[in-house]
Amino acid sequence: MLIYKNYYIGCFAVFLLGLSMLPKISMAYEKDKTYRVTILHTNDHHGATWASNIGEAGLAARMTLIESIKKDVFKQGGDVILLDAGDFNTGNPFSEVLLAEPDIKGMNLIGYEAMTIGDHELDNPLSALKQQEQWADFPFLSANIYHKGTNTRVFKPFTMLNKSGLNIAVVGLTTEDLTRFSYIEYTDNLEVRSPVDETIKAIDELHSSQSPDITIGLTHLGYDNTAKSNTKGLGDVTLANSLPTGMLDFIIGGHSHDAICIPEPNTQSTNNKTVNKCLPDFKNNIWIMQAGELGRYVGRADIEFINGKTKLVHYELIPVNHMNEYLGHDDAPVIEFISSPITPSKKMQALLETYYETAINKLNNDTVGFVDETLENINPAPDPSGKRKQTHLSQLILTAMIEKTGADLAIIEPQNISQSIQAGNILYDQIRYALMPWGGFRIIDLNETKLVFVDLTAKELEDYLKVINENPYFIDQIFTLTNHPSLRNIKGKNIQLDKNKKYRLATLEAYSLGKASYAQINHHPNFVNTGMLISKVVRDYIEKNSPLKASDYTPPIE
Ligand SMILES: [Zn+2]
Repeated sequence: MLIYKNYYIGCFAVFLLGLSMLPKISMAYEKDKTYRVTILHTNDHHGATWASNIGEAGLAARMTLIESIKKDVFKQGGDVILLDAGDFNTGNPFSEVLLAEPDIKGMNLIGYEAMTIGDHELDNPLSALKQQEQWADFPFLSANIYHKGTNTRVFKPFTMLNKSGLNIAVVGLTTEDLTRFSYIEYTDNLEVRSPVDETIKAIDELHSSQSPDITIGLTHLGYDNTAKSNTKGLGDVTLANSLPTGMLDFIIGGHSHDAICIPEPNTQSTNNKTVNKCLPDFKNNIWIMQAGELGRYVGRADIEFINGKTKLVHYELIPVNHMNEYLGHDDAPVIEFISSPITPSKKMQALLETYYETAINKLNNDTVGFVDETLENINPAPDPSGKRKQTHLSQLILTAMIEKTGADLAIIEPQNISQSIQAGNILYDQIRYALMPWGGFRIIDLNETKLVFVDLTAKELEDYLKVINENPYFIDQIFTLTNHPSLRNIKGKNIQLDKNKKYRLATLEAYSLGKASYAQINHHPNFVNTGMLISKVVRDYIEKNSPLKASDYTPPIE
């Protein structure tokens, strides 16, 4: 077992500067020399390869930014590391339909050096992920994913990068959520082991053959220090606090989509996007960083290394054509850049252009199933009272939610459905557009279209339904489906539930957060965020049950 010498924190002159010290097996570095390394990091890219329809983010602008930082750093005698903390898959049809090949080839072109496996990497079979690994010029890391029942890891646990003579170790770690909530059929043969134990094990292995000067945990565990955090698996703060002091210098994370931005030490992350004057979190002498989501930020950490000590000298979250939306004059929506616009790289645009037409063609031919008659979005016989009547399409969506989660009751709102699904062949694109106007990733927040569920006692469910029933207009709007007799009539005051039963409620993430007319359920100990986009859930259902008969989804008479 290695012994990790004490860290010390020094020098709070202008910025907080964390200093660290590790015993070195061999002194690879030169005495008294100042090494300068800039770590650039992204996470939760989710297919945001092309800029959104309003020109936000995208790999082309990211490339311009990273190239200009590299040029600057090299000029000053420093070196750069570029890392991604996982979940590059799922979220944008252009990327998904090509199995994220443009994303990976784009990351190759920018010069990524390592990526951690996120839970959404297993939204496709392992064989597809292995294909993606082949495309990448950089390693996919995860020290804690094993083939079930074996001691064989599925991916490389770590990689060693040499920067200006310094050895920088990067250890990959994946959330335990992977096998809990992801696609069981793709993760059934995998086992995600304890991030703490596996970090210790991987670092022991690492030290037995190599001597890192700096050690980075590249994690997809989620940041567990915000009020909204609903990561069920162990998160980055717990990891930092559970490790022997000095084992890692940095944790560069993903999964919870946080833009970690702490105004001063030991305060809670504002998670808000003011670019300057913020720091990563700092726990047990480990800096914890995360750069938001969807390529809207690149995190930049400038570090110095002198005589075995690592010091963070500057940190910022740099917006990549990130937009702010607000209501301006006369309540007209205004969208503007939150910092100076970045010109997209022509080289990257040329690369992505080669994929565009194939993506369109594939999307136009990605047939998921068949339905004999149109699944209407709007009920053709509206209720004279203005009540929103359930439709064939709402019934189908609710059925898919119940089938995926085994729920007793599923709830969605009409606003989740924007178009009918026409009779005939059903394209995946049609499902997406029916379920969300996904012209660009900005239109609907990715976080809020995921399927969630929670197991409640009769009393808890009663309380939940009471909140909904407090708003008579609202209760007429929601769509519900149940297989359980005691839940047939949940609208109204006299709800009769079976006192001895536990009820599973399925809904979308947006309705779990305690906003609008819903009680908050995302902090309930039994709450599960499946991480699955509702469009994918409906796709799976249609694929499994096609050809569909629209009449099977006739709404009950209300
Ligand atoms: Zn994730």
